[in-house]
Parts: sequence; structure tokens; C-alpha cells
Amino acid sequence: RIAVTGATGQLGRLVVDALVEKHGFAASDVVVIGRNPQKLAELAPIGVQTHVAEYSDKEALVAAFHGVDRLLLISGSEVGQRIAQHTNVVEAAKEAGVGFIAYTSLANVENSMLSLAVEHRATEELILASGLAHTFLRNGWYTENYTGQLATQLEHGAILGATGDAKVSPATRQDFAEAAAAVLVAKEPAEVYELGGHAVTMPEIAAAVTDVTGTEVVYTDLSAEAYAQVLADSGVPAPFVDVLVSSEQGAAQGDLFVASDDLEQLIGRVPTSIHDAVRAAAAQLG
Ligand code: NDP
Repeated sequence: RIAVTGATGQLGRLVVDALVEKHGFAASDVVVIGRNPQKLAELAPIGVQTHVAEYSDKEALVAAFHGVDRLLLISGSEVGQRIAQHTNVVEAAKEAGVGFIAYTSLANVENSMLSLAVEHRATEELILASGLAHTFLRNGWYTENYTGQLATQLEHGAILGATGDAKVSPATRQDFAEAAAAVLVAKEPAEVYELGGHAVTMPEIAAAVTDVTGTEVVYTDLSAEAYAQVLADSGVPAPFVDVLVSSEQGAAQGDLFVASDDLEQLIGRVPTSIHDAVRAAAAQLG
């Protein structure tokens, strides 16, 4: 039996689909866990088991993990609270007798200077200390972090950032989800996968947007301070500004560049190109 936390989220839903549709894993042996009963109910028609459990509620987590052989812990989205939350999940997994845990970590987490790396490093450490068999899925940036802004990029003819001309290796949620599903069904998954797609620079992403849409979009590189100001001026809350600026600074140092082909190996195909991802985003805009 395989359990997925954060299953009501964007990545989690795709992992559940990949388990059932791509790998033919029996839906009745998939346990989907989330904190929102309404969102969980949307997954029930696939035939999966659903369990409500908030990361802060260890007892509910232990109950949800009962009889589970393999667990995917999808990192929570509440930055700053995740060490305590993930500690609960790992302790509950141990208590319930889960045999294996996969965790969605961050690319190059050991040396990454992204502020987000702190909680991911701590989570990897607590999984190591738990003694549970494990796989760290060190995911790079989602391509959707860029293509999700397509409407704004087209409106202004601009992508702003502070990544310079460093290479980043984004991949789509679909690709990362398929990789996670592959690990969950693998006979002997490795302990660590560094996962990223095709390496591109921000100017190349802007060029891809221009190519695909026919609207000229240019990347403008800003200082960290200027970028922070732009974000604050557009209403981004201060703590999130810090996270985004730190991520740009880390990216500028190469922390979001992934040299390995682990993603391609796990999903058995070439990761989605930036052009195809922009095409899909443009089609959604209509
Ligand atoms: P989503 O925000 O769509 O999903 C997050 C999931 O975690 C949801 O199911 C959410 O529940 C659940 N969750 C959050 N907090 C709790 C909690 N306290 N207790 C129980 N469940 C909780 O994110 P994605 O699916 O897109 O991404 C998955 C994770 O990857 C993110 O949570 C984040 O850690 C990380 N991430 C990585 C990025 C990257 O570029 N690599 C970018 C963004 C995030 P609910 O549906 O109720 O909100």
C-alpha cells in the first residue's frame, strides 16, 4: 500500500494519477492524505482511500499510515512551520511501521543557499536520523514558476528577475510527479535523486516565450534590492518577497542547475522542454 501526503495539492494529484494510470497500481491500495475534506472528496472517485490528517496532528497521521508500506511525504507549503510538521510525519511513519519514505526535497540541498533549503535540509536530516529506508527527491524549480506568470509576461513584454545568466534546470510538476511515482513503485530506489529538466537561462526562457507566442518578451536582470522592491510594489507579502529574492540569488549561483539526468532516467523519457511548457501555458490562456 502506498500513501501520499499533500495529495490534494497540485503535485500530489499528479503523483496519484501517475501511480494509477502510468504504473497500473491499484487505486484501492493508494491512500491519499490531505487536511481539507472537500478537496480529498474530489479524489475519492478514482477509488483511492482518503484520510484527513493535518501535519500538526500526529495521531491522525499515525491512523492514516496504518498498513502503509511506502509513503511519499510531499513537503508542506507553510514555509517556516515545516520542520515541526515534517517531524510529526516522520515520527508518525515510524510509529505506524511504514517501511519506506520518499520526500520531496530541493535540488542541491546540501550546499544550496536558497532560504527554502533550510527546512528541506532539516527534514532530510530527521529522516536519516529516523533510520527509515528513504529516497530524497531533490526537485529543482517547477517550470510553472515561470510559465504560471505568462499572462503578466506578455502584458509587460518583460520577465524580471535577479538570476543573471545562470543556468536553471526547471521541470514541470507532471515530470516531477512521474518521477516520484516511479520511485514509489521501484524495486530498489536510490537514496538520492537530483531532479531537473533541460538547462536554460532566464534570457532563453524569455526567448522561448517570444518564439511560442509571437509577442516579444525580454528578460531584465535586476539587483536583489531592485527585484525585492518590484515584488513589494506589486503586493507580494514581505516574507514571501524574502523567499523569492533568496531563490533568485541562489539560482544566480547555480543552485537551481541540476547536472544529473536522474529525472529522465526515472520517467523514461526526455523531460518536457521549456518551449512545450510555454505552449501548454499559452493554450490555457486561450
Ligand atoms: P500545493 O500548495 O499545490 O500543495 C501543497 C499540499 O500540501 C496540499 O495538499 C496542501 O493541502 C498540503 N499541506 C500544506 N500544509 C499542510 C498541513 N499543515 N497539513 C497537511 N497538509 C498540508 O504545492 P505543490 O503541489 O505545487 O508542490 C508541493 C510542494 O512542493 C509544496 O508544498 C512545496 O513544499 C514545494 N514547492 C516546490 C516548488 C518548486 O518549484 N520546486 C514550488 C512550490 C512549492 P491543501 O490542499 O489543503 O492546501
